[in-house]
Amino acid sequence: MRIDILTVLPELLNGPFSASILKRAQDKGLVEIHLHNIRDYSTDRHNNVDDYQYGGGAGMVMSIEPIVTLIEKLKTERSYDEVIYLTPDGEMLEQKACNELSLKNNLMMLCGHYKGIDERIREHFITKEVSIGSYVLSGGELAAAVLSDAIIRLLPGVLNNETSALTDSFQDNLLSPPVYTRPPEFRGWKVPEVLLSGNFPKIEKWREEQALERTKSRRPDLLDE
Ligand code: SAM
Repeated sequence: MRIDILTVLPELLNGPFSASILKRAQDKGLVEIHLHNIRDYSTDRHNNVDDYQYGGGAGMVMSIEPIVTLIEKLKTERSYDEVIYLTPDGEMLEQKACNELSLKNNLMMLCGHYKGIDERIREHFITKEVSIGSYVLSGGELAAAVLSDAIIRLLPGVLNNETSALTDSFQDNLLSPPVYTRPPEFRGWKVPEVLLSGNFPKIEKWREEQALERTKSRRPDLLDE
């Protein structure tokens, strides 16, 4: 998989991609991350990438030209399965969309700033709009990092234990059951006996019950789906 991220602040994204699972995935050649600075495509003599909004009002808007130049350049080099704009008014990010996106080859992600991007970019180039929650971030970079992480960990070979992503929350519309590790007792707080029993069918049944219980109490909406 290849992910191209279009941003005015590539330095904000260096951190998330340079450690742990996301770094390992790149080192293993399972994903390529390419950061593109929109500012490099500005034709403005001060390298500006934003301008006042038509109609007046507070806040600048990201200009159409540098973004379109960059998107069109990338599209001449390969075809993209999705051109994604991270935006608070996009479709709320869910595991199902991450699963679907993890099957794609080439993804482009556009990070907005200020009041957002000129609407004409959304109309003519964006194929998918994603929100990571009902709150407003200063820019799309953290949202792009969240989306990339949620996708990349699903790629075959990225996680050491191949099955572990499948037993995470939201797969099968259930939350994950509680987990424990050594010691079996700490300050008198005991690990549930069944987990120490070695009886795997019983453990499996306990986990299913716990997952269902947890989902019922914390996210009953998942059970309606
Ligand atoms: N004026 C916009 C609004 O009210 O919907 C908010 C713009 S926000 C300050 C700047 C940029 O941050 C957006 O263009 C988007 O790329 C990103 N962003 C902010 N909140 C986000 C969220 N919840 N999900 C995804 N991206 C977000």
